Amino acid sequence: MGTKRQASEPAATNKDGLIVVTGAGGFIGGALVRYFWNKGFRRIRAVDRKPLYDWYQRTPGAECLSMDLSEKENCVRACEDAWEVYNLAADMGGMGFIERFRVECLRSVLVNTHMTEAAWRAGAGRYFFSSSACAYNTELQKNPRAIALKESDAYPAMAERGYGWEKLFSEMVCQEYWAERGMKTYVARFHNVYGPWGTWDGGREKAPAAICRKVIEAKESGQLEIEIWGNGEQTRSFMFIDDCVRGIDMIMHCEALTAVPINLGSSELFSINALVGLAEEIGGVTLQRRYDLDAPQGVAGRNSDNTFIKKVLGWEPSTPFRDGLRQTYHWIEQQYRDRKAGKRTVRDTA
Ligand code: NAD
Repeated sequence: MGTKRQASEPAATNKDGLIVVTGAGGFIGGALVRYFWNKGFRRIRAVDRKPLYDWYQRTPGAECLSMDLSEKENCVRACEDAWEVYNLAADMGGMGFIERFRVECLRSVLVNTHMTEAAWRAGAGRYFFSSSACAYNTELQKNPRAIALKESDAYPAMAERGYGWEKLFSEMVCQEYWAERGMKTYVARFHNVYGPWGTWDGGREKAPAAICRKVIEAKESGQLEIEIWGNGEQTRSFMFIDDCVRGIDMIMHCEALTAVPINLGSSELFSINALVGLAEEIGGVTLQRRYDLDAPQGVAGRNSDNTFIKKVLGWEPSTPFRDGLRQTYHWIEQQYRDRKAGKRTVRDTA
């Protein structure tokens, strides 16, 4: 049996408690470790299955472990002495990845299943799970004039095949660890996160990074055209990484959100064509658009309904897409140049 901590203890302020972040070699996990470090937390254990050399960013001072968390013993080791656990490890990518590699996506269920059990046995006070907007009913997302998805729209369930169903099931695991075993769990459904230090090449990158890279490539090569997946009318909202890590912290430490899944996303809606236009504007170039109607494109439209998060936290992700994309574009441009010069860059080796 897990040794439970008192429900009323405010974990957020305990700088002596050990924070465990999984998926820390990737985009959001790496940013979360840095966020807590910058807030003054010094006991941080970062875990990812990638070799340390391949982590996107590493925060000096944090304990870094390279372990495959689909193995139970590794989850036990990862959770030793944990005060709080943030589980961000998952096999994931943009539409090109999740539509092609459903088995990999589904197998992430092993990570959350072992991690919840290990966290509970270790007596962790709080457990965070990174769910996704892909958990929502796809029937509601067939129109590019997207209705904003509210939390109750996950049921009746008809999630994205593979990736979305894994998230939905794992959400339920978290909820039952609270209901039956008393471990406080927190679930955020992220909507498209982007920003510096994210995957930008290799097949797992998501639309904002992919479009920035394509604009940069077109400029550099002088071939002023761009391939767009689908007709470009698909709509999405995009959340800047700084908003994401701040939101995770706020959600994890809000009592009213124990075992209550909540949207964590921007409510500023953009079409892919508008995203291309913004990236062109930032890059100072206009490209000939070629549409690949056979490419993976996901649901037609999706936005985050932020009514609930505004009510419960009095806050919502608010970095304007234009500002966040500018930072991301310039970071990718630097990565692109560094790679050309033979320097080390963020690489997808997952
Ligand atoms: P990422 O791919 O950059 O990071 C995920 C990390 O998990 C990778 O470094 C990978 O090596 C690691 N990992 C995968 N399987 C593992 C295993 N068995 N053991 C140990 N480590 C393992 O992705 P990200 O964008 O940082 O996403 C983090 C979390 O947020 C994931 O759960 C993802 O599903 C969720 N999410 C992300 C987005 C987004 O837009 N980025 C949207 C919705 C949900």
